[in-house]
Amino acid sequence: MERFKMLVERDFPGAMPKEDLLDHCTQALNALGFNRNNTIPAVGLCRDELCRSVRHAVQERWGEAFDMSSLAGVLLLGRTGFLAAHDHAPLEGGKERYLYVAMPHVGYGPSGEVGKAFRLGRPGLSSACGALVAFRRELESGRVDPTLNQDDLEQSLIRIRLLKHLQFGHVPDLVELTRATHDVILEDLERTVASTTDPASCDYGVVTGVLLHAPNGRTWIWPGAVYAVVDGKRIDIACPPKPTSR
Ligand SMILES: [Zn+2]
Repeated sequence: MERFKMLVERDFPGAMPKEDLLDHCTQALNALGFNRNNTIPAVGLCRDELCRSVRHAVQERWGEAFDMSSLAGVLLLGRTGFLAAHDHAPLEGGKERYLYVAMPHVGYGPSGEVGKAFRLGRPGLSSACGALVAFRRELESGRVDPTLNQDDLEQSLIRIRLLKHLQFGHVPDLVELTRATHDVILEDLERTVASTTDPASCDYGVVTGVLLHAPNGRTWIWPGAVYAVVDGKRIDIACPPKPTSR
């Protein structure tokens, strides 16, 4: 675990155990008028079962969540998906409230292997995030198909979206690619939220970041953008700077 903490400090400084970040965000959002009775959570993570514990941790604090997940956590649900989540929100005093949680993920193996995770019953280490590792391998080979593949819809959409964001000709390492994926997720989230919400009747919280799978099965989160919009005004939520000893 010491090695993991060292690597996290190098790659994602400020990351902390998921419970610490989610408790902190929950308290801050509660103080701004959001609670589990008046807010619908909408969670976008990778389909990987390693991410499931984070969905559960959000649901423990906020109730059943609308699912925004796709491979790599890239948001592919579009305006129709966001509008569906909004349509399911409780109405209190003429207001709808949403909490968006959206993050890509990366695993760390027991010897510090970035992009690797141990899975019960599976020999050796496997990739996490497999979708990003596969895309990176294509970049490295110099052969990337930028077209929509009907037999591989999500992966081809992710590829097209990330290619638009990455610098042409540069092959990022996995940490850089995961951070770039976070930036794409945040950009798509904010653009779609802006076009599907009315500031007069919708308040919302945003928690983005990167999920980090530790070799002992725990998940940490590096906080990316954490804020609320209340009555159309953005309020940033400062995150605790130091991880705990959990
Ligand atoms: Zn994944």
